[in-house]
Amino acid sequence: MKPLDVEPQDYNGMNSTSPASQIVSFLASHDVGCPSCGYNMRDCTTSTCPECGQELTQSRL
Ligand SMILES: [Zn+2]
Repeated sequence: MKPLDVEPQDYNGMNSTSPASQIVSFLASHDVGCPSCGYNMRDCTTSTCPECGQELTQSRL
């Protein structure tokens, strides 16, 4: 039997279509270098680089 699919929509009341959450889910499975310092942001839980503070945007992916 298939387990319940828990979709992240409405999680913490955040907009599920926000670019940041899409970037975070992308980072979970891709190696993405920070456009500013080159830090590998894979598995980061925010769209902001922990090294230099540069915010990733989808256009940079
Ligand atoms: Zn950076």
